[in-house]
Amino acid sequence: MRILLIEDESELANWLARSLARHGGFMVDWADDAELAERRLRVEEFDAIILDLGLPGMNGHEFLHRLRARDNRCPVLVLTARDAMSERIDSLHEGADDFMQKPFAIEELEARLHALIRRSRGREHPRWMLGDLVLDIGSQRFLHHDQPLALSPREFSALKVLMQKAGEPVTKQQMLDRISPDDTSINLEAIEVLIHRLRKKLADTQVQIVTLRGIGYCLEPLSDAPH
Ligand code: CA
Repeated sequence: MRILLIEDESELANWLARSLARHGGFMVDWADDAELAERRLRVEEFDAIILDLGLPGMNGHEFLHRLRARDNRCPVLVLTARDAMSERIDSLHEGADDFMQKPFAIEELEARLHALIRRSRGREHPRWMLGDLVLDIGSQRFLHHDQPLALSPREFSALKVLMQKAGEPVTKQQMLDRISPDDTSINLEAIEVLIHRLRKKLADTQVQIVTLRGIGYCLEPLSDAPH
């Protein structure tokens, strides 16, 4: 699970990133200001955001307001420096999903993140469908006429990104970031091989992976598919 941590205190950020990776199985990307975080959210996807309210430049409240105004529904856990009730109420109105007051126990933060991500997945998309292809979020399997597709973990991750953005272009770099952000043994050329294999496995379905030259790929329903 990928987390975007927006926090200007580098010591706290480093500690959080290390702890969450070691104990919670999270991959944490750190942005030390909200402008940087916005730029990253335009091109990358995260499972949750940890947001410090007190930031230099654009503060946490404004960031949150702008995030929801763009209809980005990524769950947000807000870090507050003190137990200020008004600050928490403001954040709720702006679209925060949960709070932690500094200082906090890492175990509680982990538990809350897991709960947030679980809730957001269940709430939004228990099952995604495109043509006759179904992604069952609960079992993390693709189904074709109720039969699971046999996919390697990388093939699954690649197809999931395409499914999440069905009808929109997905760049090779976006796929790479989702498939294995830390694995340097896989490169952009490997994505082409993955796509080739996925196309074979999708041959009997009513969806297709379209190549957008110079941009990436797009998952679409076959245009002559019966409805
Ligand atoms: Ca701060």
